[in-house]
Parts: sequence; C-alpha cells; structure tokens
Amino acid sequence: MTTPVTPDISSSFSSPVHAATELLANARRIVVFSGAGLSRASGIPTYRDADGLWKSQNALQFSHAEDLARDPSGFTKFWGQRQSVIESAQPNPGHTALALLQRLRPATRLVTQNVDGLLTLAGGQDVLELHGSLRRWRCDRCGNRSGPWPFHRCLRCGSHARPDVVMFGEMLNAGVLLDAQVAAQECDLFMVVGSTTIVYPAAELPQTALAHGARLITLNLEPLPHLDDAASVVLRGLSEDLLPQLLAGVPGSRS
Ligand SMILES: [Zn+2]
Repeated sequence: MTTPVTPDISSSFSSPVHAATELLANARRIVVFSGAGLSRASGIPTYRDADGLWKSQNALQFSHAEDLARDPSGFTKFWGQRQSVIESAQPNPGHTALALLQRLRPATRLVTQNVDGLLTLAGGQDVLELHGSLRRWRCDRCGNRSGPWPFHRCLRCGSHARPDVVMFGEMLNAGVLLDAQVAAQECDLFMVVGSTTIVYPAAELPQTALAHGARLITLNLEPLPHLDDAASVVLRGLSEDLLPQLLAGVPGSRS
C-alpha cells in the first residue's frame, strides 16, 4: 500500500516521533546510517571524547598501518587493548531497535561508521561497516581474515595480524563503500543516527539519497545544520531512547 505523503509531513502528525514512525512504516527501502552516537550508551568511547585509552600518546603512535612495521609489539599491544574494550561492550536498545527494523522491513540496509560490531551482535544482517571491525584481525599481507593468529601471525603466509579496521591514511574498503552508495541511491528513506556526517563518505551518502528523491530523517543529539533543513523529520535526543520509540509504532513490532 502506498500512501501519498505531503512534503510538510512533520506538521501532519502530533510529534516528530510519530511522523518518523509513519515514514518508516511506509518506506519500501530504508537505509540507516549510524555513527558514534549509536554506541555511546554501550560504553564505546568516541574519538572526540576525552578518554585515556583513545586519546593517549599511544594513539598517535599506532593509528597508522605503517606503525605495525615500525613497532610490531607496541602496535599489537595497543590495538589489543582497544579490542578488549570493544569485546566487553554489549548492544544497547538503539542497536536492538535497528536490528528489529531490519527484521520487520527486510529491504533495510544498515550502514555504520562504527567499528564495534554491535549492530551485528544485536542481530543486524549484512551490516556495511565502512571503517571495518575491531572484532576481527586480518593479515597485513595476504588479506586472510581467518584465525587463529598464533603470536599474531598469519597461518597462511606468516606475516603480521592487524585489526580489520580502516586506519588513518588508508582508503575505505571499495566494495563496502560501493554497496553503501548503491543503497543510498536506491532507498526511498535515509535515516542518519548519531553521526555528525561531516567526514567523507558520511557527508556524501545522505546527499546522494536526497538527490535520488529519498526522504531524510535526522536523529542526533546536536543539530546537523547542513542536513536538518533538508530533513522531513528532525529528531533531537539519544538514539537509545528514540529508536525504540520509533520502532514501537512500526507494524509488526509488538507481535
Ligand atoms: Zn597472510
């Protein structure tokens, strides 16, 4: 069933949450683009937060892939500490709500800047992880992603293991990026969750969706001046509070 939607949809409903729920319920293809704000309630420090582990002197020393060759043991220790923070984190109600959205609306694509793997852990399918995942290692030479990694070495070629994340100075995974761009072109509803959408490609994907006629929902703690004006609905608040509210109104969520 397709329902004609007026351009000024937010004024047709009693609240932005209600308006966003209507858009989610009526969209055919949804893309949800998430950033650090989605995982904050799971205790994942963001790069911007003043946190010792992520803002230490070590972070400056080991944030580039070439640091592995310079100091293999320091590199492995530093990333192992980051990984242990990630591994102890659990999905929050925001992750769970997005996984539920995908179950109710299987054409939904989940695209994320986060490297914590929490959307997948919450039940999300085929999550497009633009910056990779800190829950995996891969060989720095042959690309093998299958462990085990005895002494942080690849069993296939003997080279070093490194986290399967995009480090400073590295390109994004071209296949993942292409999938995200196609999803943005083909969707009829694009929702930004907990991302400032300033850096590439986060800045580009919502614009791609808008240029192809999609509607936009922004859900962020702070205003997104470059996007909010183009959004059909602007939701201001915490994703772990707002996403479950949105999903409660999508048909099938209570069955
Ligand atoms: Zn290898």
